Amino acid sequence: MDKFEQMISHMTQREYLFIGLSLLLIGFFFYKYFSVKRRNRHKENMLKHLRILQKSFDISKDAMLILSTKNEVIYANKSMIKLFNLDENYLLKVLKNIPEIKVRNTWVVLDTFIGKNRTRLTDTLLTFPHILLKVSDDDEIPINLSMDTISIGKSYTTYYKVISIEDLRKEEGFLTIESRHELTDLPDMKQVFKDLPAFYSKVHLEKNKIALILLKLDNFTRLRSIVGYEESNEVLKKFAKYLTGIAEDLNLSVYHTFDNHFLLTVTKLKSIDAARKLVEDIQLELVTFYKKEDVNLHLTVSAGISIYPDSGPIRKLFDYTYKALAKGEDQGDNRITVFLPEEFAETYDELTLHNYMQRGLDKGEFEVYYQPIIRVENEEVIGAEALIRWKHPQYGMIPPDVFIPLMEKTGFIIKLGQFVLEEVLKQQKRWELFKFKQIEVSINVSMVEIATGEFAEYVEEKLIEHQVNPEIIKFEITEGVAMISESETVKYFIALKKLGVGISLDDFGTGYTSFGYLKKFPADTLKIDKSLVDYILTNEDDQRIVKAMIELGHTLGMKIIVEGIENKKMVEIIASYGCDYMQGYYFDKPLPVFEFQKLLR
Ligand code: C2E
Ligand code: CA
Ligand code: CA
Repeated sequence: MDKFEQMISHMTQREYLFIGLSLLLIGFFFYKYFSVKRRNRHKENMLKHLRILQKSFDISKDAMLILSTKNEVIYANKSMIKLFNLDENYLLKVLKNIPEIKVRNTWVVLDTFIGKNRTRLTDTLLTFPHILLKVSDDDEIPINLSMDTISIGKSYTTYYKVISIEDLRKEEGFLTIESRHELTDLPDMKQVFKDLPAFYSKVHLEKNKIALILLKLDNFTRLRSIVGYEESNEVLKKFAKYLTGIAEDLNLSVYHTFDNHFLLTVTKLKSIDAARKLVEDIQLELVTFYKKEDVNLHLTVSAGISIYPDSGPIRKLFDYTYKALAKGEDQGDNRITVFLPEEFAETYDELTLHNYMQRGLDKGEFEVYYQPIIRVENEEVIGAEALIRWKHPQYGMIPPDVFIPLMEKTGFIIKLGQFVLEEVLKQQKRWELFKFKQIEVSINVSMVEIATGEFAEYVEEKLIEHQVNPEIIKFEITEGVAMISESETVKYFIALKKLGVGISLDDFGTGYTSFGYLKKFPADTLKIDKSLVDYILTNEDDQRIVKAMIELGHTLGMKIIVEGIENKKMVEIIASYGCDYMQGYYFDKPLPVFEFQKLLR
């Protein structure tokens, strides 16, 4: 027996009890000790998390407030303390002088507003963009307001109101200009986009108007070419300084958006005329602004102005200044143009379409249709005219008469023309490989493409690339678009003709082609326009004209196509004049390639 066993064997019952109790007690103390320690640790963790949350709220630029049902302030972050001017001991005090906000022209106390909108306890955030908050008797500020109610625990009777306010003045108030033009040190284009929301929000404060004025030094490029880079930069700097001076006097902001363009943002504007007057003063100043002996050039400035509400919706104001400026530019220097929707309706549509063009081309919205051309003798399909179609995802089918002139104006027609040529060449190759009947395909070409002077060269390249016989390609060109001289046009067409392709004079009879030009022009086909045959059945003058044209064409050794044939009677009468080919709805409308090629089997 060891010592321990000896001891136990001598212990009485009481001693047993005593030791047992002591052990229990020790165990209890240990338990208590660790559980308190655990709870403390838990509490510490909670506090830590709370501090993190609080710090995060304080960092937020938005003002945040948590209220109890009795409007006691449970918490307000730093921005909120500043916004509502709360003192240090705001916690758990009832929010006094609860601010008012303006919703749909009526002022309501923030709290009743929250109450009204709290239809049920929910986590859905209510947001009210661009409303006014009255922070003191004579101070209202534009804000975005969001709010929500949160209930904690099972009982829905206790809940908290959470309010978040975005101060829309903030960019401006302690204005931080982060992005400046390196030459003039004025805020630049990047800064414009940063500041615009705050500027726009002013509308809600003002009974007056707001305006954006885009200024452009008209003849700056000329000046630069005369006096050089350094000196012209000095002129820009001087102009920037002058504008800054005006800005300080009139309380507006100036930006140097790029190069010779500056933007003014104007609030508290009484009328459109006031904006005009502002620019007129600048124009006057410029008369004496730059002087240098032996440089005979005085600077002028043009402006595009957009005004809310006259010009249209706020979000468009910036773009409108550009539209206005561009329109003024067409008319010369020293112009002030205000964007007024009545005067710009057309431009607007045009511009929308223009923006869609490249995207449309990239996304395959353009498709070439084929309209058969028939030989009169035996009504056989001997060719087709390639006609472009634009299936716009929103606007549906846009007719070429709408977008072609626009593309010609913007130069986009060159890209479109390349697309059509490529499509037609690929198609011809496919038809050849699959042994369809061989036909000649006519492609419409714009004078804009010809005027590049590189058209023939481009076509030659493409013919080689696709290995297509030039004899089955023809180009239709409309007479009379005087972009380049007649002699130059003829020169380019001769170069084209040399490739072996066909040339057709389109819309013949609608323009002013002189006989002399017609003789020199290397066309092998004359295409008589639809407008000349529309009334052919009843109008004897038209009958005589068309007949004479066909004869004239034949005299010059050309073949004749008449387009716009819509019925059997037209076929008969025009055939009787000796016309060679016809095209029109009577035979077929322009068709998608799969429909069209059925005719070639
Ligand atoms: P265009 O060259 O005079 O083309 C003939 C137009 O008359 C086509 O209109 C055609 O669909 C239409 N047409 C043909 N037969 C009839 C008929 O019997 N009745 C009626 N009412 N119309 C008929 P579309 O396709 O709308 O093209 C309009 C114009 O757009 C063309 O006039 C052409 O100048 C231009 N265009 C079309 N595709 C292209 C292209 O790929 N490039 C260029 N540069 N212009 C194109
Ligand atoms: Ca044509
Ligand atoms: Ca035509």
